[in-house]
Amino acid sequence: MAALHKVTLIPGDGIGPEVTKATKRVLEATGAQFQWDLAIIGDSAQDMFSTPLPDYVIKSIKRNKVALKGPVTTPVGTGFRSVNVALRKILDLYVCLRPCKTYPGVPTVYQNVDIVVVRENTEDLYCGIEFAKGTPEATRFIDFIFDTTEEKVRKDSGFSVKMISETGARRVTKFAFEYARANKRKKVSCAHKANILKFSDGLFLAVARDLAKDYPDIEFEDIVIDTLCMRLVRNPQQFDVIVLPNLYGDFVSELCAGLVGGLGVAPGANLGDDVAVFEPTHGSAPKYAGLNKVNPMAMMLSGVMMLHHLGEKKAADRLEKAIATVIIEGKNVTHDLKPNPGNGKAVGTSQVADAVIEKLMEVGDA
Ligand code: NAD
Repeated sequence: MAALHKVTLIPGDGIGPEVTKATKRVLEATGAQFQWDLAIIGDSAQDMFSTPLPDYVIKSIKRNKVALKGPVTTPVGTGFRSVNVALRKILDLYVCLRPCKTYPGVPTVYQNVDIVVVRENTEDLYCGIEFAKGTPEATRFIDFIFDTTEEKVRKDSGFSVKMISETGARRVTKFAFEYARANKRKKVSCAHKANILKFSDGLFLAVARDLAKDYPDIEFEDIVIDTLCMRLVRNPQQFDVIVLPNLYGDFVSELCAGLVGGLGVAPGANLGDDVAVFEPTHGSAPKYAGLNKVNPMAMMLSGVMMLHHLGEKKAADRLEKAIATVIIEGKNVTHDLKPNPGNGKAVGTSQVADAVIEKLMEVGDA
């Protein structure tokens, strides 16, 4: 009998509910069996439960160990802190895995790109240690800096602390090497700014160099983050697996998404030792919410990653093939996958799901 997978389903904000609905439909059409545990976070949870991240959601994810999540809005500068960052911290989802590969038919500058970005997900400037300008904490921090370094910091400064631990660096770089080995990848590139940030990025790099010795079958290189950006746009095909600290990982995963056709086709997963949350790279794109306009494929491809994680390889391969076929045919795709976006011939989010389901029936076993 087919396994029944209990999965926490989080529609999220903005365009989240529509891409989630489309993804749920195609996942169910693969024949894999799901029991969905609906969980509300973000704006709607704030209205309903007076918190953007209710406890029952955390309990549900911990119980099921797998979640499929739409994007959640984070207000800039005001309101609640990022629910996404909180989720990753609470569940200790220390890896953000973002495969970026070109599917034939997607309008892009490059072809044959197949990069996997492994971003550290819990430390760095995202650790949440911040002191606002003019607070007693900021003043004490300024005094501490002067006492220990004799550096005079301006009194009207605000602070966000960059923190990288050996433990954090080791587990994410180990994941990158293990992933490379398990997926027959040839090279791991570690990106950093260790020439300037000697004690944070320097530590990350030292750990990666040390671990590389245990993986003689995988080529290892280290690369300064600015050089990485330049080389990525000149010749992205030279990269395979890229591992990097949190903030650079944020930028580089969107850069790589851009190389392969944009956020509409960029899936992702947040992984811990025993919990996995699958979500697209894109955000909640509030201006498109409810318009049935955006591309659900990034979330569908996150669903493909989830199927692999659940051991449903056949269903995963079939779904990826169905999506790839819809893309290459170019008829039932959203505006971002049209060579001249905005030319009016694109279809909507739910029509993409219809087309993928139709192809699933045609492709049979991939
Ligand atoms: P965004 O990714 O939401 O949208 C930027 C632009 O990318 C959109 O205007 C649209 O043109 C395009 N886009 C995004 N998703 C698309 C899709 N599926 N199909 C086609 N085009 C798509 O980024 P933003 O505007 O910077 O962020 C909006 C909100 O989302 C913010 O509150 C941000 O904090 C949040 N966010 C959440 C997550 C998450 O939940 N993991 C990730 C990133 C941003």
